[in-house]
Amino acid sequence: MAGDSIAVVDLDRCQPDRCNYECMNYCPPNRTGKECIVERGDHFGEDEPHEGGDDQILISEEICLGESCGICVEKCPFDAIEIINLPQELDENPTHRYGENAFGLYGLPAPESGTVTGILGPNGIGKTTAVRILAGEIEPNLGRHADAPSWDEVMDAYRGTELQSYLAELREGDVTVARKPQYVDKIPNSFSGITRELIEGVDERGVADEITERLDIRPVLDQPIDTLSGGELQRVALAATLVRDADFYFLDEITPYLDIGQRVTASRLIQDLAADGDRSMLVVEHDLAVLDLLADSIHVAYGEPSAYGVITDPKSTKSGINEYLSGYLDNENMRIRQEAIEFEQHAPRVASNTDTLVEYPPLSKSYGEGEFSLDIEAGEIRNNEVLGIVGPNGIGKSTFAKMLAGKLDPDEGSLDTTLDISYKPQYVDIDQPMRVDAFLSSITDQFGSSYWETEIAQPLQLQRIMEQNLTDLSGGERQRVAIAACLSKDADLYLLDEPSAHLDVEQRVLATRAIRRYTENHKATAMVIDHDIYMIDLLADRLQVFDGQPAEHGHAGQPVGMREGMNEFLANLDVTFRRDQRTGRPRINKPGSQKDREQKNAGEYYYA
Ligand code: ADP
Ligand code: ADP
Ligand code: SF4
Repeated sequence: MAGDSIAVVDLDRCQPDRCNYECMNYCPPNRTGKECIVERGDHFGEDEPHEGGDDQILISEEICLGESCGICVEKCPFDAIEIINLPQELDENPTHRYGENAFGLYGLPAPESGTVTGILGPNGIGKTTAVRILAGEIEPNLGRHADAPSWDEVMDAYRGTELQSYLAELREGDVTVARKPQYVDKIPNSFSGITRELIEGVDERGVADEITERLDIRPVLDQPIDTLSGGELQRVALAATLVRDADFYFLDEITPYLDIGQRVTASRLIQDLAADGDRSMLVVEHDLAVLDLLADSIHVAYGEPSAYGVITDPKSTKSGINEYLSGYLDNENMRIRQEAIEFEQHAPRVASNTDTLVEYPPLSKSYGEGEFSLDIEAGEIRNNEVLGIVGPNGIGKSTFAKMLAGKLDPDEGSLDTTLDISYKPQYVDIDQPMRVDAFLSSITDQFGSSYWETEIAQPLQLQRIMEQNLTDLSGGERQRVAIAACLSKDADLYLLDEPSAHLDVEQRVLATRAIRRYTENHKATAMVIDHDIYMIDLLADRLQVFDGQPAEHGHAGQPVGMREGMNEFLANLDVTFRRDQRTGRPRINKPGSQKDREQKNAGEYYYA
């Protein structure tokens, strides 16, 4: 079976003192006397360094019968083993493996001078590993962890590919790299000064003024970093990366916590920097409308998260995203998902449901003299609908929600009923030292019921993280636990603020389905604030649009149908979407292009 299946053992989970080596006892080759599963201490010589404890297991990929056997996977009580057949179409050797029975990466993205290259793929598929190789932090071992290859051998493996010249420069130490981390919330843990010091300290190009202006972070320049909001931190992190003078910029997710206007601005800034000289930009991004706008070409990453990942050759951005959504990669002849992700070409019919959850008169609220003020037009929220809420940050969306929940009294207008609201905030801060299962079972007594499993745990992919501590979760995992916690409470209204943050595309689609199914099956009502236009499109029945001047004045219209709402919202932003001819996917028009002008004249910004 050599070479076409891989065995991955999670050393954090493998604990032989508690299972008595069930895997070894049942492995068919082991039972015929072969050494397929062995103890690490027996495999490696006495002084040979190796990962994991001597008593933890090691699986021989040469002897293992492959995924169709899978007996050890079934027997392991701790879900520590994965045996996966690699796709037959994959005819290359790994670029890197972290060790025996560890994650393997196949392929590498090819940064190209003067352009923006995107990577599209799920979390845990090796994108960061690839970037660490390109940044010179990891020397690729071509899967030969025991006898690591020389640079010459690595160069040989990539001769004749787009990567050859990049790797040659990397080898000479000629590549300088600037990176924006994925989780901007953690920046205050490693930097304690004010914003200005952070940015000016790395301003190697002398462009801090221009970039802070374009990203609109002047107002917070003299604020301590630990007082910034997530959206501010995201823009500060972008600025602190883009002011550096590097050959290779790596930006790991640029959109979390940014509103659409800010996403478009950040994209233009990145494109301008790429065009200025020989710089290459590599961007990982899960907001597909933004990736489409931003990238000149993309690599799709697929595989089995935490086991292996394959990075494809570059594709045009348009066909890469289309293939990804369709679930089938043309050149690679590879199915990566059973169903396609599809968008409605036309605005859905306005639901005829007139059953009302709450009706409210015109409301207004202001915070202190001359500070923020908000006006809300009279409106109603219907039972059993998903109401999408769109508008910039700092425009009063949470203020409105607090009034609905009776936590804040309006200055004018009043609400007869106060709603019981289950709220998932934008910045998820569940980090008690507690296991996921304990946390969720403290929220609902439905926890563990088959109903809860199918409606919540499965679609949100919680099974594999149930035993982990909240403090050890990644951003995307924490988001899924927070969505589950929100939906698991009994409430009149479920309010989810930016559920897409840190979820990959697959997880966004699953979370969308989970929220929709939950509202349908529970006759529940949800309000979802999000800036990922595709997610809002797939999720919402109606829209409520907020506009105005952030931090000064906000105005909310009444909830309207999707077509009217998208037109109102996108007219405020001056952005139009056309449809991809083959798939019907909405794509942002170039400002001033013929389509852009025609659609603006016709007043059709989205469902054109
Ligand atoms: P992504 O950026 O796509 O989310 P990563 O490259 O961060 O993915 O990680 C891919 C896989 O590699 C993960 O399952 C992770 O657990 C594993 N991994 C990352 N670093 C190491 C390491 N030093 N040793 C072993 N495994 C690792
Ligand atoms: P959004 O949810 O649209 O991001 P918010 O309703 O949270 O907007 O805030 C709108 C504006 O009101 C922001 O400028 C915010 O700083 C300000 N604000 C929010 N709460 C208070 C408060 N308790 N006191 C003073 N200003 C506030
Ligand atoms: Fe043994 Fe491989 Fe079967 Fe696991 S999958 S029991 S290692 S042959």
